[in-house]
Amino acid sequence: MNVYDSARMAEVLAPLGYARVGDAEAADMVILNTCHIREKAAEKVYSDLGRLARLKTRRAAAGAPLAIAVAGCVAQAEGAEVLRRAPAVDLVFGPQTYHRLPEFVARLARGEGRVLDTDFPTEAKFDFLPRARAADGVSAFVAVQEGCDKFCTFCVVPYTRGAEFSRPAAAIVAEVAGLVAGGAREVVLLGQNVNAYHGEGADGPVSLAGLIHRLAHIEGLARIRYTTSHPRDLTDDLIAAHGAEAKLMPSLHLPVQSGSDRVLAAMNRRHTAADYRHLVERLRTARPDLALSSDFIVGFPGESDADFAATLALVETVGFAQAYAFKYSPRPGTPAAVLPRQVAETVKAERLATLQASLKRQQDAANRAQVGRTLPVLFERPGRRPGQRIGRTPHMQAVHAEAPAAAVGRVLPVTIVAAHPHSLAGRLAAAEAPA
Ligand code: SAH
Ligand code: SF4
Repeated sequence: MNVYDSARMAEVLAPLGYARVGDAEAADMVILNTCHIREKAAEKVYSDLGRLARLKTRRAAAGAPLAIAVAGCVAQAEGAEVLRRAPAVDLVFGPQTYHRLPEFVARLARGEGRVLDTDFPTEAKFDFLPRARAADGVSAFVAVQEGCDKFCTFCVVPYTRGAEFSRPAAAIVAEVAGLVAGGAREVVLLGQNVNAYHGEGADGPVSLAGLIHRLAHIEGLARIRYTTSHPRDLTDDLIAAHGAEAKLMPSLHLPVQSGSDRVLAAMNRRHTAADYRHLVERLRTARPDLALSSDFIVGFPGESDADFAATLALVETVGFAQAYAFKYSPRPGTPAAVLPRQVAETVKAERLATLQASLKRQQDAANRAQVGRTLPVLFERPGRRPGQRIGRTPHMQAVHAEAPAAAVGRVLPVTIVAAHPHSLAGRLAAAEAPA
């Protein structure tokens, strides 16, 4: 979502003459688009700001002033505190007000002082962002939903991104059609809680499945993905869409967080481990080759050895093609941060290593299982070596293969010849291979 937001910030600034540059040294303004989800991400902002403050001093001495902005969820959560802790910062604004960037920049230019805007405005920022977007690649992110009303007890998202909001279906269809006309072949529909999507349509609300079916009609669009989903909102029509809609790719990121019902309840996830297993069964009935990925938190307050064993057991029975595991990070203002029985750092680290080892075994097996198969690969960009292109399988695995430049933007059959930890090596299937 931050990648998407950053692209949109660049778009609102373009009419003012701003363009993206490769590094801070060459910039007139640096915007740090920040993440508050875990402490480590949030703290990184201040070390980056220290470096930028020194650059700003050097630049001022050279007569080429540099503006520094902090955007995103750290800005939203900490607001004036960012200005206090980092005197070099000129602008602080949250995820819901970046459409006001031109105004912020103008205020700064007029010498009105530092700008702080962490409103949750009643106007939807999407109505103020440019309608037409230039596709900047084969695969494009499109925000369809934002915010969250779930209030998992560990999570800052409902506080930083605000209440759940769905964009109207027609606006999304128009945006995607524009991206496809500009060369995109895949869209990844984004939302903190994307499958809670319920956008307004011509005849009543449209579900995520309904939106996917509408998008599938767009000629030239080859692939549709969406992320991130909550198990509670995985509706029957969305499960059915996985079986019925050829453009909907057979991979799904479905965070489970824990395999222990006690921990899931304390997290306020509002489902059990059995509910999750049952959902996965139904998904695999609809789409037998579905590759699942997930998120896990280890060391949630009160998590016992038995609770953690239940997580490992869930991993074994479900089987994940890929997954992220995190140590629980207490976030200020969330209910779990003040729970008794916080888990010791050493225990968290040990559990993380155990879980990651088990997830890695599954991921390696899932990658190895592709060797020898011929898969449709959507080529996205040149690889590191000359003549090499990089694309993705329907399951999202990265594939590199020798292919002509014209392969980029096309779905071509590739025979997988080797599996590496984070990618697959392939060869264009006979008919497509360059002479
Ligand atoms: N909406 C998604 C997840 C959004 S946050 C969902 O409901 O699953 C992305 C991931 O960050 C979460 O799935 C969770 O695993 C992790 N995360 C969120 N808050 C965290 C915290 N306080 N400590 C550690 N991991 C956290
Ligand atoms: Fe955070 Fe996801 Fe829970 Fe919402 S559903 S509170 S985004 S973890």
